[in-house]
Amino acid sequence: MSSLDDFARGKLEDLDQRSLRRRLVTTERTTDARAFRGSAQGGRRELLSFCCNDYLNLSQHAEVKSAAADAVRRFGAGAGASRHVTGNHPLYEQLEARLARFKQTEAAVVFGSGYLVNLGVVPIFAGRRDLLLVDELAHACLHGGAQLAGGEMVVYRHNDMNHIGEVLAERRAFHRHALILTDGVFSMDGDLAPLEALTALAEQYDAWLMTDDAHGLGIMGEGAGSTLAAARRSEGPVRVPLQMGTLSKAVGSYGGYLCASQSVVDFVKTRARTLIYTTGLPPSVVAASLAALDIIERDGALRDKPLAHARLFAELVHLPAPESPIVPVILKHTDLTLYASALLEERGFLVTAIRPPTVPEGTARLRFTFTSAHGESDIRRLAHIVRSEILPKAAA
Ligand SMILES: *Cc1c(COP(=O)(O)O)cnc(C)c1O
Repeated sequence: MSSLDDFARGKLEDLDQRSLRRRLVTTERTTDARAFRGSAQGGRRELLSFCCNDYLNLSQHAEVKSAAADAVRRFGAGAGASRHVTGNHPLYEQLEARLARFKQTEAAVVFGSGYLVNLGVVPIFAGRRDLLLVDELAHACLHGGAQLAGGEMVVYRHNDMNHIGEVLAERRAFHRHALILTDGVFSMDGDLAPLEALTALAEQYDAWLMTDDAHGLGIMGEGAGSTLAAARRSEGPVRVPLQMGTLSKAVGSYGGYLCASQSVVDFVKTRARTLIYTTGLPPSVVAASLAALDIIERDGALRDKPLAHARLFAELVHLPAPESPIVPVILKHTDLTLYASALLEERGFLVTAIRPPTVPEGTARLRFTFTSAHGESDIRRLAHIVRSEILPKAAA
């Protein structure tokens, strides 16, 4: 056996011992929040999924699917090259104008995915001479972008404005620029960033604020995201000059975007390596995003459902009222979390266990995401199992 295989095996054994090995499971989603899990040989089961980020079930919407299918027939399956070569289909212009209008910014730029936005955008606004402040619970790809930037990086305690204030007071003067990076809606906890307070700190210290709103678009702020939601709630101004997000969650399609001023967007288009050196999205994917945004903008009742479902569940399980459709049930121990996930699977529910390093050590959890496609009786049944069979084990 080669040393390469030795290395891989050693690593796998170690991960197995710590119950931290991740394995892909073949999963086929249906049109209504269910999923077939497993392969034909390994016991394929139909489960009701509470772990999709397809909050409005738009990946399955007839209008969205037919927009994608029409685009495949007219324009083909792939983009053929990067956006700067021949991959910049006319639909991109429509999608970018649409995102900017909806989110009330001057301009927008669409990338291949949300991950690519963060890896591409952060390093062009912060470099060696700059200070990066990143919330400890911000998404892995914001941390990844900050690491690529190569400046002084400070990971601040989750949503702790005093901590950011202290770091800025101590360190800001030694740096050319400062960039604050946070999720708008935190992906593993479902809570929100205090954007009004962050705006005030950013202005006080001449720092730039960037939010990752992967879980806000389509849900918060009448669908336009967490910045607009915060502006509605707040007394003071909420200004977020760099707002990124994804088209692969509530929009049900694929791709990422940055909404910002015209000059920022123009600069990103000429500098972001993850836009320049990668192939454009298939036109069908762009068409699907446009069709989904139509539905998001017009259907307020649909937009409200995921949060209403999350609130019902939380009430039944005696958890605090959630601020987003993401509800974590923190069980702390990895083994208990894996057991709870397996128990739910036995009862017909798909709720994946989230373990370190995706979440901090000692905070392994079940992460429930609620969508418009769930039914009230299913939510009640799920809550009953969590309350009567899982939480008592966590307390014991
Ligand atoms: C899913 C997610 C991303 C990545 O977006 P993709 O389009 O899936 O690459 C980025 N940030 C957060 C907070 C996310 O939850």
